[in-house]
Amino acid sequence: MGRMEQRRDKLRRLLRKTGAKSILITSETNVTYLTGFTGDSSLLLLDLNGEVILSDSRYTTQLEEECPGLNLEIRKAGTTTWELTQNVIKKAKISQLAIEADSLSVAQLDSLANKLPKIEFVKTSDLVEQLRAVKDKEEIATIRYAVEIAEKAFAVIKASIRPELTERQIAFEIENQIRSFGGDACSFDPIVAVGPRAALPHATPGYHRVEESDLLLVDWGALARLYRSDLTRTLVTGKISPKLERIYGVVLKAQVAAIKAIRPGALLKDVDAAARKVIARHGHDRHFGHGLGHGIGLQIHESPRIAANFEGELKAGMVVTVEPGIYLPNWGGVRIEDDVLVTRDGHEVLSTVPKELADCVIG
Ligand code: ZN
Ligand code: ZN
Repeated sequence: MGRMEQRRDKLRRLLRKTGAKSILITSETNVTYLTGFTGDSSLLLLDLNGEVILSDSRYTTQLEEECPGLNLEIRKAGTTTWELTQNVIKKAKISQLAIEADSLSVAQLDSLANKLPKIEFVKTSDLVEQLRAVKDKEEIATIRYAVEIAEKAFAVIKASIRPELTERQIAFEIENQIRSFGGDACSFDPIVAVGPRAALPHATPGYHRVEESDLLLVDWGALARLYRSDLTRTLVTGKISPKLERIYGVVLKAQVAAIKAIRPGALLKDVDAAARKVIARHGHDRHFGHGLGHGIGLQIHESPRIAANFEGELKAGMVVTVEPGIYLPNWGGVRIEDDVLVTRDGHEVLSTVPKELADCVIG
């Protein structure tokens, strides 16, 4: 059985538990995950015995290449893929149809319900997403590759940072380097934040120059062969003030503590707490407002979320970020982020960019 068939088989096992015998996959990322098809605007209708992908003629050849053997329904000119989907569902004589409540719009559900009044729609959430959370060997190898490209790009960036460069120039150069090392793009718009701008966890790069402050936060990642990496380093571009040294030390200690807690069976909230406790002990709990980390894969933020309000546990094969931060308004912020694989007996940190404070000083 091929990888994609294995995935669809696992989905069938989850589908049985919902009471429905068919599911309409509307999330494009989930369609890619289940079929290997990398285009868009296509849906997958899957039942306990088979599946069909619904698309349009722009993709016929690509579908035949990327998903050999998969049943295709291509819409005719003058109709929509959505109409085609409704007709195919009607012909399949389905009584209960599971839908992906996180991606199907209210308008789409209304139109399905109007066209197919006899069908009962079963709202599901997180079915394919929970499968995606645990990566297979090939996915892990691809994420490693995406980490490697991000790291190569960062090494060039770090060596070329100059006082007069703006956040935007550095962000542009990150993208340039990622592509020149073989990446397809950045895995998200890089965050490059000078000094006080780093107090905004998701700052947009602007026109501040490196020389305006003593620190520079860079959060970046590479997209390669559909998979994503996600790293953050806080660089010292001026003098190391006692405050910066103190805050940096706390964040690093928190990150190391959380990474140490990563193993199969560890509760997501306990891993979050491992970092949060360290930060709270130093009086900065108010300054760490986001969750500790998230899964990475086909998307930059995916299951599992490592946060106090998320139930569940880590499983071998998950790849998660660990990214505690301390953000002080008008001063700046420090965040350190690495990508970590949950292994059978613990964890492996996939990223290798040095992170001791001394390593982060720009000469
Ligand atoms: Zn990040
Ligand atoms: Zn992240």
